[in-house]
Amino acid sequence: MIAFHEWLQLTDAGLYCAPGDFHIDPSRPVARAVITHGHSDHARPGHGAVLATPETISIMKVRLGEDSADQFQALDYGVALQHGDVTIRLHPAGHILGSAQVELNFRGQRAVISGDYKRSSDPTCKGFELVPCDLFVTEATFGLPVFRHGRDMEEIGRLLDSQRTFPDRAHLVGCYALGKCQRLIALLRQAGYDRPIYLHGALKSMTDLFLALGQNFGELALVSEAGRGLAGEIVLCPPSALKDRWSRRLADPVTAFASGWMRVRGRARQRGVELPLVISDHADWPQLIDTIAETGAEEIWVTHGREDALVYQLTRMGKRARALALLGREDEED
Ligand SMILES: [Zn+2]
Ligand SMILES: [Zn+2]
Repeated sequence: MIAFHEWLQLTDAGLYCAPGDFHIDPSRPVARAVITHGHSDHARPGHGAVLATPETISIMKVRLGEDSADQFQALDYGVALQHGDVTIRLHPAGHILGSAQVELNFRGQRAVISGDYKRSSDPTCKGFELVPCDLFVTEATFGLPVFRHGRDMEEIGRLLDSQRTFPDRAHLVGCYALGKCQRLIALLRQAGYDRPIYLHGALKSMTDLFLALGQNFGELALVSEAGRGLAGEIVLCPPSALKDRWSRRLADPVTAFASGWMRVRGRARQRGVELPLVISDHADWPQLIDTIAETGAEEIWVTHGREDALVYQLTRMGKRARALALLGREDEED
């Protein structure tokens, strides 16, 4: 039987499927790319042909431009695409809208490249689908035992408690523009919050795309159109805006940040975050371990994140595990 590294190789652009002659989430422009999802460390401009879910293609066109690849080919979840000797299928990864695990079948071997994934429920995307495989290529953003994310709705509850306790202050929540922002809106609505939710202008184009693709977010408004103050209201902004001049227009804001990194007190303090909300779009340590075990894969390759701890743990579990040092994936946004 052919070894995995003979047909799935590491080039300076990243993971490369030799018999299919394509890269997965390449870090620089290549002729053919399969893209797991729209985040900027995975979806980059300048490829010849891009294969991805229809949602990821829409996201890439909004973020990177209509012409960000010469050619886009959409592949729906679960549909088999024969490409030379390789069969390609995409499966929901539960990370953000359109996110996919890439399943590759070659000469009776099945490899699954997870991209980024999580197992917790997310109203804005399809839930993670477990795909049994021989080789599982996993992310490890939160690959240390200290990372346990807890329950999203408890974190949302803490935000709403604070909003009720401090009616004279705006609540400013830092969140990434693609995925986290829309998930926060959906979780707030799930919790019964029915006031308008205010957005920084940088969050508008992605949120509009989610709306166009069928999400229902209730009443949204732009901060720029709402005047100053917004006491008692919830305002979402990109993390970079938490501390800049822009936020001075808000009434004595309570500064919050929704991220898996908020489990680390030092990170919250460093950013001046008063109300850290541990809400993540990545698998935490128990989810990583459980998912890897459930795939049944004997061989595990660990990509960006805390590779060493996870490789060590997997080796103890009797798996063949190795770290893939991919370029350009150092500090994962979440
Ligand atoms: Zn991502
Ligand atoms: Zn990533």
